[in-house]
Amino acid sequence: MTPKIARFLAQHQPATPCLVLDVDRVEDNFRTLRDALPLARIYYAVKANPAPQVLERLVGLSSYFDAASIEEVEFCLDAGAAPERISFGNTIKKVSAIRRAHAAGVTMFAFDCREELWKLAEHAPGARVYCRILVENEGADWPLSRKFGATIEGARELMVEAGERGLDPYGLSFHVGSQQTTTRAYEAAIGKVAMLFTDLTEAGINLRMMNMGGGFPTRYRDDVPEIDRFGNAIMMAMTEHFGNNLPEMVVEPGRFIVGDAGLVQAEVVLVSQRNRNNPLRWVYLDIGRFGGLAETEGESIKYRITTPHDGRKMGPVAIAGPTCDGADIMYEKSNYHLPLALTSGDRVELLSTGAYVTTYASTRFNGFAPLAEYYL
Ligand SMILES: *Cc1c(COP(=O)(O)O)cnc(C)c1O
Repeated sequence: MTPKIARFLAQHQPATPCLVLDVDRVEDNFRTLRDALPLARIYYAVKANPAPQVLERLVGLSSYFDAASIEEVEFCLDAGAAPERISFGNTIKKVSAIRRAHAAGVTMFAFDCREELWKLAEHAPGARVYCRILVENEGADWPLSRKFGATIEGARELMVEAGERGLDPYGLSFHVGSQQTTTRAYEAAIGKVAMLFTDLTEAGINLRMMNMGGGFPTRYRDDVPEIDRFGNAIMMAMTEHFGNNLPEMVVEPGRFIVGDAGLVQAEVVLVSQRNRNNPLRWVYLDIGRFGGLAETEGESIKYRITTPHDGRKMGPVAIAGPTCDGADIMYEKSNYHLPLALTSGDRVELLSTGAYVTTYASTRFNGFAPLAEYYL
């Protein structure tokens, strides 16, 4: 928790659940990543947290932006981003969205199949396009594989066709999965995609850009490697494959930029020891899977939780949300322990919830209001 957040919580005691995010930490994270990868352009993945305060700070730092929808494109424009600095990075786009983005001056688009390429050729003529390649997502706590990405053979044909259809075959991309905890995933993906890059260049295609996606991890319950390790691994792999002739490099971090900048404060609604012969207590919070903690699905992302009783005797817990849905359980198998003194009315903090929380909150399921947000 940053001092600014601690002061805000103490002074204001906001109604829970709420996200409180320190925008200075967003700036720190951006600078840290820029130092770790000075040759790469940073396209912030807007979906991680599209709050105007976050986008405006990043505009001030000369960030670029990766948008997944026309709405996110417009959030970036509203925050003051130049359209040439926005990449429409979703491979699944409505024609109406492509047309609007193109008209707004966005010139960079992703695709991973023939139909999307044809849509771009027709509705964003002349645009710089890059093909997303399917790569392994091993080592990622929140994988993104299967749903996206062309094969190497498919991408080779599509990039040739892109030029024939009047688009600018600009580059190739991959995404190693979110909360990626191994540098090996980037090295393997760079190796795979660099080979295609070289093949296409030799075939006369004027490729210039390698987009290495996001995935850089935030520290949750478990330690993760430092960002410098990822930066070094990426630069070593790029140099190994391209020598001194490096293409333009792009990264699309989301979680790394905003994850540890914010926390959720929540209230304990109920603590229930449901079986007298089992010490397990069920702790129900006023936020759950539908209130924004969607990444607890499969207990994938394991948030750290602090309570007013930390340091006192602990016992095993399952942690669930307040709704009437049986799927609204965050942690049952991940061996969470919380203080025995924990009781209803206590305020607890879920740390490093600045990414992928506000945007995943449902609107009125069971009548609960969406998550309140404070940006400091
Ligand atoms: C979600 C996403 C990102 C951001 O991923 P993080 O793991 O948050 O860094 C980047 N690029 C694409 C294409 C994405 O879908």
